[in-house]
Amino acid sequence: MASTILPIRCYPDPILRTKTTIVEDFNRSLHTLLDNMAHTMYQAEGIGLAAPQVGEIRRVCVVDVSREGLELQEFINPQIIAREGSASGEEGCLSIPEYRDKVDRSAKIVVKAQDRKGQFFELEASNLLAVCLQHEIDHLDGILFIDHLSRLKRELFKRWALKQGWQLE
Ligand code: ZN
Repeated sequence: MASTILPIRCYPDPILRTKTTIVEDFNRSLHTLLDNMAHTMYQAEGIGLAAPQVGEIRRVCVVDVSREGLELQEFINPQIIAREGSASGEEGCLSIPEYRDKVDRSAKIVVKAQDRKGQFFELEASNLLAVCLQHEIDHLDGILFIDHLSRLKRELFKRWALKQGWQLE
């Protein structure tokens, strides 16, 4: 079945600030959402996408850091259960187009989640995958990467956003 490209919600859309709800039904509606999210992520050339970014308040994200579109990973009800070290790198977000900045994250994490059938799994992630997952799981709690910036950098972001003609939150 062909997947649909979903419109990506952009800052300051309030849906990006909404906390998602736990998925309990691992049904066709979930599978369609996952397929459409992957398709949308690849189309936008992103390495991760969370459900609120396509207007869905479900605790779901998809990630592919292979940069070749070969290693799609789906996370339903993900939770970070362990963290170690720190890493900082430049991040961007499909919901905040063209803005990039350095964010401090944990260098290694362990994520517990379910797959599309509802099976639980644990994944140890480091490097780009760890950063990407922290970014996407933040989305599921209504948190954006700009929230991790220093006060000064947030001011710079606000100025930049105003220049783009965006309304601020
Ligand atoms: Zn994002």
